[in-house]
Amino acid sequence: MDVRVSFRDTDELRGVGHARTRHERHAGDAREDRQAAMSVLIVTGGGRGIGAATARLAASRGYVVCVNYRTNREAAERTVADIRERGGRAEAIAADVSMEGDVQRLFDGCDSTLGPVTALVNNAGILETQTRVEFMDAARLHRVFATNVIGSFLCAREAVRRMSTRYGGKGGAIVNVSSGASRLGSPGEYVDYAATKGALDTMTIGLAREVAEEGIRVNAVRAGFIYTEIHASGGEPNRVDRVKSLVPMKRGGTADEVARAILWLLSDEASYATGAFLDVTGGK
Ligand code: NAP
Repeated sequence: MDVRVSFRDTDELRGVGHARTRHERHAGDAREDRQAAMSVLIVTGGGRGIGAATARLAASRGYVVCVNYRTNREAAERTVADIRERGGRAEAIAADVSMEGDVQRLFDGCDSTLGPVTALVNNAGILETQTRVEFMDAARLHRVFATNVIGSFLCAREAVRRMSTRYGGKGGAIVNVSSGASRLGSPGEYVDYAATKGALDTMTIGLAREVAEEGIRVNAVRAGFIYTEIHASGGEPNRVDRVKSLVPMKRGGTADEVARAILWLLSDEASYATGAFLDVTGGK
């Protein structure tokens, strides 16, 4: 299936800090055309926050985008509408990534509406109310690990089955959205969440090596304190403003800043990077 789209973003949207010369523009467009011609991207949790920023930026660079969400259909439809208004192609598909049947339906749905996936961003993630380990029950641990770890594994599995040259695929790229929490442990807040990101980091290394010869690159972005709605789930919507003084750059980050790192790792610009971690944490 030809999934090429004609949309061209502005240099601003690309995050390019200078006006490009005609030569740069042609070289860049040609490269992105090649990439766009074969790129169908699934962003899990693409309706809000970092996932939505990633979906929008990817579409502006020519990716056809499958915007997955769990329950917030309105937000996902808004992301899709924004992409279409700018001439891009996108579909929203509901699926709880922690449920095997839902993940199957997500990837099958993408196959039939947009084409087989060639890029995956494992972004869907949750955390729960800030507390200490001695107050965490099994139900909470199951929920957090189910979405953040099992969900990412199930999506990676479906992506590998479609991308790997071992199964007749043409290769692809996976980016896992991890967290600085995997290094810091989130004491007093959510050690469980931090541990899920540690598991995701280990999966990034292992899967990267497992499929390196099969045309698939697997990398991770470890985000720092980013202004999104996730902090409200922890019971502290303004958490980023409380902790930003702990960041060497003395500010929180934006979803767009994380999205740009994700897009770089997905792109051919990162063609020799696999099993790599890109910290987008303001230096923390
Ligand atoms: P967010 O604003 O709360 O958005 C989370 C997204 O994930 C939503 O679209 C949500 O879907 C989706 N989602 C949650 N559980 C899901 C499931 N089981 N199946 C499918 N989708 C699911 O969060 P965010 O801050 O953008 O976080 C995105 C990722 O970045 C997460 O993995 C998070 O751990 C990571 N991260 C965030 C920060 C930060 O400071 N914000 C820092 C480091 C890492 P609905 O819209 O349907 O609810």
